Amino acid sequence: MNGPGWFLDREGGLAVMRFGLLAEHGVRHGLVVRDGGRAIDEEAVYRSLASEKLTVVTEQTHSTKAADVGPGFADFFPSRLGADGLMTGEPGVTLTIHTADCVPVFLALPGGTAVGLFHCGWRGTAGGFLTKAAGEMAARYRADRAGLLAVIGPCIEKDCYPVGPEAAESFPPEVKSERPDGRWLVDLKAENRRQLLAAGLKGTNVHVSPLCTRCRDELFHSYRREGAELEGKMVAYIEAGHEEERS
Ligand SMILES: [Zn+2]
Repeated sequence: MNGPGWFLDREGGLAVMRFGLLAEHGVRHGLVVRDGGRAIDEEAVYRSLASEKLTVVTEQTHSTKAADVGPGFADFFPSRLGADGLMTGEPGVTLTIHTADCVPVFLALPGGTAVGLFHCGWRGTAGGFLTKAAGEMAARYRADRAGLLAVIGPCIEKDCYPVGPEAAESFPPEVKSERPDGRWLVDLKAENRRQLLAAGLKGTNVHVSPLCTRCRDELFHSYRREGAELEGKMVAYIEAGHEEERS
């Protein structure tokens, strides 16, 4: 199965969604999705990834804190690092984040010479997480912002995401609308894209997934759909490339 800008693949026994923009530029990455509608076993995904590579797993708190995985880093899986974003330029290191309606955002330089993953829920998005993240990646890896690639992954779409006025008030008018019942619809994808473009990324280097986690239950878990019974979460991963693979 595939669609605009994405295709399904398999890796290490996992069903994985890949994004054309990153694949075309030699960036190793994936989003673990439901396999034949089965629930995703998050711990099993981490074990599978960690059996191949040094893997970083986060304890997410809806912050705008991104951790840098540098040469001295030792806190790999099974440890969990308190952060909502990760970035690295260390070859062979695999970063992960997990989501179930929030936005998984991949940032990378071509060839994966530097990579980042960010968990953007409404709090992180409202806090300008990606503006900060793109700036940090550009500074840390001396990257030209116009050369950064970004994928705004599958998340809950605007029409499926009514929120209260207290959540909506932090968003600019162009990415939200009020419903007759006083609830607001917030477009997390549009706001995250806006932040990346404002940070200096090129529009052609930003892919926005057309998929909604709440609507596509054969592929995704959704907190809004499953509620307290949430059976699993999607795991996004990205790996920094090796020097010899860099072109
Ligand atoms: Zn939907």
